[in-house]
Amino acid sequence: MTEKGIRLGAHMSTSRGYHKVPMDSVRIGANTFQIFPHSPSMWKAKLPDEDLATEFKSEMKNTGISPEEVLVHSGYLINLASPKEDVREKSIRLLSLEMKIVKSLGIRNLTFHPGSHLGTGLDSGIDRIVEGLDIVISENEDIEVLLLLENVAAKGGHIGSRFEELKRIIDLSCYSRRLFITYDTCHGFDSGYDLSSKEKVEALLQDFDKKIGLQRLKMIHVNDSKYPLGAGKDRHARIGEGYIGRKGFRCFLSNSYVEKVPWILETPGDDKEHAEDIATIKEILGLSGEAG
Ligand code: MN
Ligand code: MN
Ligand code: ZN
Repeated sequence: MTEKGIRLGAHMSTSRGYHKVPMDSVRIGANTFQIFPHSPSMWKAKLPDEDLATEFKSEMKNTGISPEEVLVHSGYLINLASPKEDVREKSIRLLSLEMKIVKSLGIRNLTFHPGSHLGTGLDSGIDRIVEGLDIVISENEDIEVLLLLENVAAKGGHIGSRFEELKRIIDLSCYSRRLFITYDTCHGFDSGYDLSSKEKVEALLQDFDKKIGLQRLKMIHVNDSKYPLGAGKDRHARIGEGYIGRKGFRCFLSNSYVEKVPWILETPGDDKEHAEDIATIKEILGLSGEAG
């Protein structure tokens, strides 16, 4: 593996405008990134002005960052599985608009959390997710944006912590071909997926392949975990400072399949901490280029 071969970045702030993000990413040693398409804790969103979108795309070209390899993360209020009709309707509307925002920026991938059934049961929750997704994609059939379901921490009524659940959503949708996966290492660890040895990593990926198919693994969220295996807490830690640890990331990230997929940090902190986490990952994998 060469350093040129890995795609590594972090969740970036868009507070100075979308067009600043590609160069800001290069500055922290990244060659990809993730952004929100609007303020993530609000229902409000709008398409970017055309000038801004054009400037963003030209900055992507200038920095050589591939729009196929960057990720947009959906808003946190979206819950397609909600039993509350108004929340479901607003979720469908916002996710559909997010697809249009992602398209206007020329980006390929939009990731979202499948949702929470809020105590009404897995089956009805999955039915609502599939119904919502099919409406959203049918409204955007001509838009070549892929929707990535993120595995979540096993916690409360959250759907999508197990591969079986993600698989059921993909299989039941009329638009399976447009659905892919973001694998979050902290959420997976929270749900009992262990990375502590090469054998465990291989078993995990075999399980993923058998249940979902590795061709659907499009993005990885690289986060350490503040809590032990199976804790279901969803508390991200800096790389090497949590229970996955340096050894876990060495085993996971050096896997021949995993190293082909872009890696995005969602670790605590901002650009400075993310630059350090990027350096840590390169160091763990022996890519730092430093002597000794
Ligand atoms: Mn997420
Ligand atoms: Mn994540
Ligand atoms: Zn999380």
